[in-house]
Amino acid sequence: MRPHIKLIAIIAAAFLLVTGIYSLILAHRYVESINDSLRQHDRGIKFDTISSLKENLNQREILLLQYYSNLDHEQFEKAYSTTNQNHRTAFKRLRRFPDMEEPIARLVTLENRIAVSATEFSRILASQEIDWDRARELLGGIAVIKKTIGQQLKILAQKLRVQRLHARGDAQRITEQIQRLIYCLVIILSALTLTGTWVFFKIFDNHANAKALALFPERNPNPILRLSIDGHVEYANPGAKNVLPSLFPDQDATPEDLFPPDLSDRLSDIQHKPTSCSVLEYAINDKYFECTLQYLPDMESVYAYITDITQRKTSEAELSYQAHHDSLTSLPNRRMLQNRIIFYTHNSTIDGEQTALLLLSLDRFHAISGSLGPNLADKLLAQIAARLKSELETSLDLSEQSSIFRLENAIFAVLLHGFSNRSILNRIAKRFIRCMQNPVYIETKEYFTTISIGISIYPIDGTDSVSLLRNATSAMTRASQLGGNAECFYSQDMNNNTPENLSLENYLRYAIARNELELYYQPQISLATNQVVGVEAVLRWNHPELGMIMPDQFIPLAEESGMIVSIGEWILNTACEQTQLWHKQGFDDLTLAVNVSGRQFQQKNLPGLISRILQSSGFDPNKLELEITESIAMQDYVNPEAMLSKLKSLDVKISLDDFGTGWSSLTYLKNFPIDKMKLDQSFVHNLTTDKHDTAICKALITLSRSLEISVLAEGIENQQQLSWMEEQGCDQVQGYFFSKPLPADEFIDYIRQRNDPIESPSEQN
Ligand code: C2E
Ligand code: MG
Ligand code: MG
Repeated sequence: MRPHIKLIAIIAAAFLLVTGIYSLILAHRYVESINDSLRQHDRGIKFDTISSLKENLNQREILLLQYYSNLDHEQFEKAYSTTNQNHRTAFKRLRRFPDMEEPIARLVTLENRIAVSATEFSRILASQEIDWDRARELLGGIAVIKKTIGQQLKILAQKLRVQRLHARGDAQRITEQIQRLIYCLVIILSALTLTGTWVFFKIFDNHANAKALALFPERNPNPILRLSIDGHVEYANPGAKNVLPSLFPDQDATPEDLFPPDLSDRLSDIQHKPTSCSVLEYAINDKYFECTLQYLPDMESVYAYITDITQRKTSEAELSYQAHHDSLTSLPNRRMLQNRIIFYTHNSTIDGEQTALLLLSLDRFHAISGSLGPNLADKLLAQIAARLKSELETSLDLSEQSSIFRLENAIFAVLLHGFSNRSILNRIAKRFIRCMQNPVYIETKEYFTTISIGISIYPIDGTDSVSLLRNATSAMTRASQLGGNAECFYSQDMNNNTPENLSLENYLRYAIARNELELYYQPQISLATNQVVGVEAVLRWNHPELGMIMPDQFIPLAEESGMIVSIGEWILNTACEQTQLWHKQGFDDLTLAVNVSGRQFQQKNLPGLISRILQSSGFDPNKLELEITESIAMQDYVNPEAMLSKLKSLDVKISLDDFGTGWSSLTYLKNFPIDKMKLDQSFVHNLTTDKHDTAICKALITLSRSLEISVLAEGIENQQQLSWMEEQGCDQVQGYFFSKPLPADEFIDYIRQRNDPIESPSEQN
């Protein structure tokens, strides 16, 4: 409704109401005036009629008495006729009142008797001979009649008062009735006015609504269309036409283009739907639309209401992104991983392909983040995430169906679907390990980190996301326990990891006392002479119940429990004594390499211990090589440089084990007194098949040459690898191609065979 019409209606209603109230006031005043006039009228009757009658009666008596005394006939006649005249007027007034005939008749009779007496009285007093007795008698009679008339007038006055009261009561009643009537009229009028106004408003509003509703499609900026049941557009509002040019700038589009291609299917569907309604969501040229189709069977047509939901879709996508991605690294998060596992494992059941989950955990992250603080630790994580992601994307080996996630803190996950065999997973894991070699720069400082990787495979290691994640975590923990910087496949024995570890730990405490530990010796061959020039002592544990336990399985335990310190002492002692024996047997140039664990390296008394052992065994310090892994050398909680120089001061040699997998950087290598680098077997393994590994090996050999450090390649297993190392000028080699680690008595046989007559290794194996 337009505002000015409403205003006019309100003013009209107010006017009617004011008029009603004003008429009420006027009516009230009118009734009051009637009451007043009635009161006035009453007073008039009383004074003008009864009083004048009484006065007139007294007047006449006085006139008669004056006449008696002065006998002035003329004066008497004149005055008496005047009183008579007044008397008649008063009677005339009285007659106007109802029910006055009888008292008036009585009064008239009495008056007539007075008149008769007065006439006789006048005649007597006018005669020559005045009969004074008769005159007195007549005066007496008149006085008696006057008294009677006075009484009659009293009665009359009384009657008039009663009549007046009745009349006043009637008038009051009438005025009250009139008043009530006016009240009622005013109330009815007001009620009618209000009701009328309300009805008027309602009708006007309805009318306005109906009018606005009729304009709804025309004014609506969203497309509203009416379609025939076969999809032909019968009506399109201006909103539908307006949206077309922005959607299809390069073509002449019609309203039909606002619908998805499967519109006809949808239209035939809704005819059979009980709700006769269907909601479609679809995209047209980067914009999203929602279309509600409403089928009207009686009109044989369908109404379509189309809304642009691009903004909502964008917000939904943003929300979904936030819910499924990690804010620090922008990598998908755990929730997304679970969704993807469900997706891939479902696909696996269809295409028969395997899905693998690799969990990657940064080693010693607690220590790193403790020293960096949360902000810098976040920066480190972000860089590592980017590095892992780029490794995943650039690696040619990786399947198309692979993605990387950040689960929490320093744990990442890689999901791979459709890989052909386990060795590919191995290679991929190694790639990740290797891509961590380069330092991370935070505020110009270098930080080195390594990762431990646990791998579980669907469906062998688990058929759902929970079991795959749990088992990958077990494998990752195992990799981490082995010293980190390693990958580990899940195996069933990890399920009862803890109890086994506990019992192993207990057993390990008695291992030395029970002589269950044994050293094996693996030869190191010089490529220049093809002779065994050195030996690496590696530990074995001959467990009475569990059989031969490899060092990977118990050295992390020995490290954790601190037992490695005493075990390490035993190893050094045993190895030195054993090699000293071989020296005495003629192989006096044989060098001895002994692995030193991280825990041992932290022992301040390590140089003292080594010195004591060297002295007690008489072993030449120059022939002893201490193998330290890169990660041990880079530990930030000890001063590696100080420890290494103390060790060097004993004249022993330092060898960097597993080189290439850990913390090495040129800066460190330059500063440290390193004599030998042992190229990690993971590079050697794929040397001839992986160009990255080839490049790394080449670079490492070149680097060691430029630093004048001798280089030994670990894990030589075939002739190609050996030839490649020869070509690149590697100094020494070690690996199964020559020999596995051997017990001491077998080793002496091996060295005797190998070093006396010069034969090729292939002939040996
Ligand atoms: P490492 O010091 O790098 O030792 C080399 C490992 O590679 C040995 O495994 C050896 O058996 C293995 N290996 C040698 N040639 C080949 C080859 O051609 N192919 C393959 N696949 N493997 C080869 P092992 O004896 O199981 O030792 C594993 C690791 O355990 C050692 O790596 C070392 O880090 C640690 N370890 C072994 N003995 C001791 C020890 O006495 N003390 C300490 N602290 N750690 C030890
Ligand atoms: Mg070693
Ligand atoms: Mg090694």
